[in-house]
Amino acid sequence: MKLILLGPPGAGKGTQAEILSKRLGIDTISTGVMLRAAIREGTELGRMAEGYINDGKLVPDDVVVGIVKERLSQEDCEKGFILDGFPRTTAQAEALTASGVEIDKVLSLEVSDETIIERLSGRRECSKCGTPYHVVFKPSPNGDKCPCGGELIQRADDNEETVKNRIEVYHNQTEPIKEYYQAQGKLVVAYGKEELADTTLEVAKALGLED
Ligand code: AMP
Repeated sequence: MKLILLGPPGAGKGTQAEILSKRLGIDTISTGVMLRAAIREGTELGRMAEGYINDGKLVPDDVVVGIVKERLSQEDCEKGFILDGFPRTTAQAEALTASGVEIDKVLSLEVSDETIIERLSGRRECSKCGTPYHVVFKPSPNGDKCPCGGELIQRADDNEETVKNRIEVYHNQTEPIKEYYQAQGKLVVAYGKEELADTTLEVAKALGLED
């Protein structure tokens, strides 16, 4: 399965990607996780991306398309993959198509703007491996640490001002992608629920993965 997860920040894409990844035995490719890793490692990519991320803006298309293409050319992607956070503009979607990658399905995970703001304030992330958590909806089994030993931190771009920008960017630049994939007959929609298990069920139904 070659799958794209679309949805606003805080919709639960990362968490659903993790669940689907285990279930389907394929890797998640998250541009947000890759960019934050580059920032932590202090690479040239990280230094370039940091300002955009902290302002809640998108990193330029050519940069992101470059890192995704490189990752998708690795052998393990042949059996399938889950793209989380890419594409985020119609230009990125077109570049993906032009590179010859055949996507099977695009899942749009829908939640309201009010829910996003509420969810992002409780969101945490492992500083070492990037696994997403939430203080209420998805606490770590190891308290204030990740099972890998990493500290749980709040993302720099989860503050109120940046979140507002990210929601606006989502509606203006990312949502139009839905039409692009709808026209190709690949778009399926799932509605995020209060409980994680209910959202997981909605996602499975939308993808035709019910037992
Ligand atoms: P995410 O973890 O997916 O919420 O991404 C966090 C931030 O990384 C975004 O707000 C953007 O600044 C940047 N980013 C992640 N993916 C992309 C992308 N496909 N295109 C441009 N910027 C991106």
